Amino acid sequence: MSERFDVVVVGSGAGGGVVAGELTERGRRVLLLEVGPHRTAADFTRWEARATHDLWWPVRMAMMVPAGEPILLLGGRCVGGGTTINTKVALRADERDLRKWHAATGLTNERGEPFGQADLSAHYERVERVLGVRERRDWPRSVQTVAPGFQALGADLEPVRSYTDHNCMRCGSCLQGCPTNAGKSTLVSYIHPALASGLELRPGSAVRRVLLEDRGRGPEASGVEYLDAGGEPHTVQADVVVVAAGTLNTPQLLVRSGIRESSGGSPSSALVGRHLGFHPARLVYGLFDEPQDSHMVYPITAHSMNHQHDEDGGFVIEATTIMDPIGFATTLQDERGPLWGEPLVAALRAFRRWTGLLMMVNDDNNGAVVVDDAGGENFEAHLEPGELARIDQAFRFTRQVLEAAGARRILWTGLVTTHVQGTCRMGDDPARSVVDRNGESHDIKRLFVGDASVIPRTLSVNPSLTIMALASRLADHLHDDPGGYLATSASARAGSAPVAHRDVV
Ligand SMILES: Cc1cc2nc3c(=O)[nH]c(=O)nc-3n(C[C@H](O)[C@H](O)[C@H](O)COP(=O)(O)OP(=O)(O)OC[C@H]3O[C@@H](n4cnc5c(N)ncnc54)[C@H](O)[C@@H]3O)c2cc1C
Ligand code: SF4
Repeated sequence: MSERFDVVVVGSGAGGGVVAGELTERGRRVLLLEVGPHRTAADFTRWEARATHDLWWPVRMAMMVPAGEPILLLGGRCVGGGTTINTKVALRADERDLRKWHAATGLTNERGEPFGQADLSAHYERVERVLGVRERRDWPRSVQTVAPGFQALGADLEPVRSYTDHNCMRCGSCLQGCPTNAGKSTLVSYIHPALASGLELRPGSAVRRVLLEDRGRGPEASGVEYLDAGGEPHTVQADVVVVAAGTLNTPQLLVRSGIRESSGGSPSSALVGRHLGFHPARLVYGLFDEPQDSHMVYPITAHSMNHQHDEDGGFVIEATTIMDPIGFATTLQDERGPLWGEPLVAALRAFRRWTGLLMMVNDDNNGAVVVDDAGGENFEAHLEPGELARIDQAFRFTRQVLEAAGARRILWTGLVTTHVQGTCRMGDDPARSVVDRNGESHDIKRLFVGDASVIPRTLSVNPSLTIMALASRLADHLHDDPGGYLATSASARAGSAPVAHRDVV
C-alpha cells in the first residue's frame, strides 16, 4: 500500500520551500520531494565547477526567434532550489507590474477587485520577517567606482534590500551556496526549521507524474509517482498536490502527467507552458586601472531604478558583480563575438580589475516551454521588436555608465536569465490562465501550482520575494481549506499554531 500525506509538494525552491515549511508548522503532514541533493553550509565552498555540478541545473538554452541568439537559462537543482545559489536581493513587486497581471489574465482578489499590492502586503511582511530582509548600505569599492558613472548620466544608485543577515562576511560565493548561513535561502529559513516539526523531506526524488483520477466529480490530483535516488519508482497518495518545480519544469510535469488529455483539451490546459517570461539580463564589465575585487563582495549591494518602467526604458541595473573564473572566461564577448586567444588571456590576467553591472530588462512573456512528441524539452523565445529595443537601450545605457566611470575597456556576456516566470499563469479567466487566483488548476481539482510559473507577467524586479509571498498566500489558502480537501486532518489539527515562532527579527 502506498503512503498517504495531507499535501505533497514537488520542488523545494522559493515557492515549494515556503508552502511546505508553513503547512508543516501548522500541523499538516507534508511530503517535500526534491530532485536535487540536500547540501548544507558545511558543504558550501568556493569551488565553482563543483557547485555547478552539485547545486545547479545543467545549463539550458532558449533560441531567440528569428534572431537565433541563445538565452541561457540558469537555475538551482538542490534543496532550496534557486534560493540556495542566488544573490538574495529582496524586492517587492511594483504596483504597475501588478496592474499588468490583471490586464493579462483578469486576476482579481477575493472581493473581485483587480489584484494589487494590498493583496500581497501581509504575505510580504510575513516572509520578510522570517527571512530577516534588510538594506545593504555596505557598498564595496567596486560600487564606489561605478557610482560616478550613474551620476554623470543623471541616474541614481540606491542600496538594495536582501535576505542576508549580519553574519554576511562579503565573501562573494553566494552562487555556490552560503557557507555562513547568512544567506536566508528557503533551505535555512523554512525547510530546516520545518524538519524539526515533522516535515518529510526526500532529496534525490525525481517526480515523473502527478496521479490524476476521476472519482465521479471530474478529474482530481490524487498523488505523485517519483523515482528515488537509486532509480526505484514510488507512488504516494495525497489530499492535495502542489507542483513547485520551477517555471521551466512545472509545465513539463503537468503535460507529462496528461493534464491536457484529462481536461478534454480545455483552453486553460492548452496554455500550460505558454507565456514564458525571461526577464532577460546581460552582464556588462568595465576594466579599471585599480583592482576592484568584485568577486570578494556581497554581489549586489546597489541598484539603479530610474528606468524600471516600460515608459522609462524598462530596465533595472544592479551593481556590482562578476562571475567566478570559469563563468567569466567562457561567456566574455566584444563586438566581434566570443573572446578567444590572446585577448581572452589578457582579460583573465586582469580579473581583479574588472567590475560588472547586471542589466535586467522587462519582457512581454513571449516565450514557451514545449514538450515535443518524443517527450523532450524545448524552450522558445519569440521576442518582439519592442522587447529587443528595450534590451538594446539597456545595453547602451549600461556601457555609457561604465565609460563615464572611467572604464578602459568594456566586455559583456550574451543574454542570460535567472528569473524565468509565467508558464502556468494565475487568473480569473480560464481562457487566459492555467490556475485560478488561489493557484488551483482551472481543470483539475486538488492540483495547485506554487512557484514562479503562476506569475502572469514578468516583474521588473528580482522575483523571489514575490514568489515566496504568493507561496505564503497559497499556504494560508490550503490550510483554511475552503474546498474541504483536507477535511479529516483539519479537524484533527484545529487551532494549530501560526508560523510566528520561526520569525527571526
Ligand atoms: C544565479 C541566480 C541568482 C539569482 N538572484 C536572485 C536575487 O538576487 N533575488 C531574487 O529575487 N531572485 C534571484 N534569483 C531567482 C530566484 O532564485 C528564482 O526566481 C526562484 O528561486 C524561483 O523559485 P521557484 O520556486 O519558482 O523555483 P526554484 O527555486 O527553481 O525551485 C524549483 C525546485 O524544483 C526542483 N524540481 C524540478 N523538477 C523536479 C521534479 N520533477 N521532481 C522534484 N523536484 C523537481 C528543482 O530542482 C528546484 O530545486 C536568482 C536565480 C539564480 C539562478
Ligand atoms: S557574500 Fe554573504 S550571503 Fe553571500 S555567500 Fe558570502 S556570507 Fe553568504
